[in-house]
Amino acid sequence: MLKVGVTGGIGSGKTTFCKKLAELGAYVLYADDFARELMVTDKQLIQEIKSVFGKKAYLESGKLNKAYLAEEAFAKDRVEELNALVHPVLWERSKKLYKIKEKEGYKVFVKEAAVLLNNGRPQDLDYVVLLRAPEKERISRVMDRDKTKEQSITDRINKQPDFDELVPLCDFVIDNDSDISSLEEKAIKFYQKIAIH
Ligand code: ATP
Repeated sequence: MLKVGVTGGIGSGKTTFCKKLAELGAYVLYADDFARELMVTDKQLIQEIKSVFGKKAYLESGKLNKAYLAEEAFAKDRVEELNALVHPVLWERSKKLYKIKEKEGYKVFVKEAAVLLNNGRPQDLDYVVLLRAPEKERISRVMDRDKTKEQSITDRINKQPDFDELVPLCDFVIDNDSDISSLEEKAIKFYQKIAIH
């Protein structure tokens, strides 16, 4: 089973690209969604988050106290601390998923993650794909998608790495600079290229 990482800045088109790969038969793990799931299901991780960020990080129902955590982690610039707790669990659990999905017969496993290359290129991936789109487009697309203000998106962009500097760590760079169908076309071509080998 081939393992592919798909990364890129906010609004670069990662999810759109990966949805097409899923349609073509790949299993796609959306790292953000998986991380959110682990944060409310993995008992050890829950304990660690409580000890670092306080018991208030969770509501009595066991759900994440998003408002509190947003204030503690994002507003106070402690996202790295949160990532340091969540990411090791995430990668460990992804490795288990590799085995499960391989047994289920998947030939391509895709991991979609904005935070993928922060510590260099992960050893477990056969290919890394970087999605790029002009910043103006990314901002307007995310504003439309999330109904958010421009400032909150530029704040998040400024906290992300400069993905152009990460090009040397990637095997494929996909420019999402036209319409959605062109991006989907690029996903098909990419899938055909890797699935043949
Ligand atoms: P995030 O980092 O926030 O998860 P992302 O990289 O996964 O974002 P998408 O969600 O795929 O990006 O795309 C952002 C928005 O832009 C979506 O609403 C998507 O439908 C739209 N979009 C993506 N590519 C294009 C395109 N080429 N033309 C027009 N809209 C696009």
